[in-house]
Amino acid sequence: MKKAFITGITGQDGAYLAKLLLDKGYEVHGGVRRISQPETVRLEKLGVAKDVHLHEFDLTEMNNIFRTIRDYPVDEFYNLAAQSFVGTSWELPIYTADADGMAVVRILDTLRTLKPDTRFYQASTSEMFGLVQEVPQRETTRLYPRSPYGVAKVYGHYITMNYRESFGMHSSSGILFNHESPLRGKEFVTRKITLALAKLAKGGSDPVVLGNLDAKRDWGFAGDYVEGMWRMLQQDVADDYVLATGVTTTIRDFIRFAAEALGMEPVFSGEGIHETAIDAKTGKRIVEISEKFFRPAEVELLIGDASKAEQNLGWKATVSVQGLAQMMAKADYDELA
Ligand code: NDP
Ligand code: GDP
Repeated sequence: MKKAFITGITGQDGAYLAKLLLDKGYEVHGGVRRISQPETVRLEKLGVAKDVHLHEFDLTEMNNIFRTIRDYPVDEFYNLAAQSFVGTSWELPIYTADADGMAVVRILDTLRTLKPDTRFYQASTSEMFGLVQEVPQRETTRLYPRSPYGVAKVYGHYITMNYRESFGMHSSSGILFNHESPLRGKEFVTRKITLALAKLAKGGSDPVVLGNLDAKRDWGFAGDYVEGMWRMLQQDVADDYVLATGVTTTIRDFIRFAAEALGMEPVFSGEGIHETAIDAKTGKRIVEISEKFFRPAEVELLIGDASKAEQNLGWKATVSVQGLAQMMAKADYDELA
């Protein structure tokens, strides 16, 4: 029986990956940091909370990482834990650098010391492309991060490559474009939209208040993307891969898809911070704009080219952005009382 360790097992991707690995017969261990009320909601929703072995783990604590790797040696180590929200990274830039950058070398160097044959996956991100230097973005596109989050992840990405090249470790970096699901954190724009629209569809009256609706993202389904992570670690040779759908969509169009899935007829009017949208069926205002949600530096366009993953891993995204918006809106609607 293969063993795997997942940092960030309580997060969106951690939960989907835990389920995938359990279904494949793995013994699954995961790192959970101490918070006032332990949260395994996502693992419970996928029905796997009782099947995983959870251990106290914090990215910022060197000796805790050392003991974890010494006491629970595994075949595959997936580093998914991070301060994962771009917006927060301007408020917590130093913590973000530590958790998303330095922690990667803490783990890699401990693996190098204690168990260098462990296969390692690093959760890199399309946010590293930032002010994009090429369209679409692929593994070779020059990086130009636009947030403290993106900058920290660039370090994690290059140190993963460097340990592969320096010590021959099987360390791979997945450059994943945005991927969402009904388990997505409520602060991310897709989930913020689907949750707010579901409340409106249930009779609520509060519009969703957003920032830049012109930004474009390449959104896929998280369930597809964890399959890609696993496939990377099954290769004889470690490498870096983009996972993306190859389709880009504005925030405004994502709102349209989610609203239509809930039976609304969204109509947008106005410009800039005066833009609004109403549901033509009910006349309710469903979208407002606030300066508060604009970022100090924006990533305007992301669109990925995952042809290397398709060729080498046989991986392809299976859920369209419309299907994703529908899945998330319906899940939020069904869950509301
Ligand atoms: P989530 O925010 O859902 O999960 C993040 C996880 O990291 C949570 O389990 C969280 O624990 C844990 N964590 C945060 N800080 C620490 C810490 N100091 N020590 C230990 N654990 C910690 O993120 P996703 O599942 O969406 O993303 C997984 C990874 O993929 C992240 O690294 C993210 O940056 C990256 N990524 C995500 C993309 C996406 O679109 N989803 C795109 C590209 C990359 P807790 O539950 O306690 O908060
Ligand atoms: P990111 O790509 O990892 O930053 O994912 P997010 O879901 O946080 O943001 C995606 C895009 O939506 C960014 O361009 C944001 O500027 C934009 N956006 C517009 N309004 C909002 C909002 O209210 N919340 C968030 N999170 N993003 C918003």
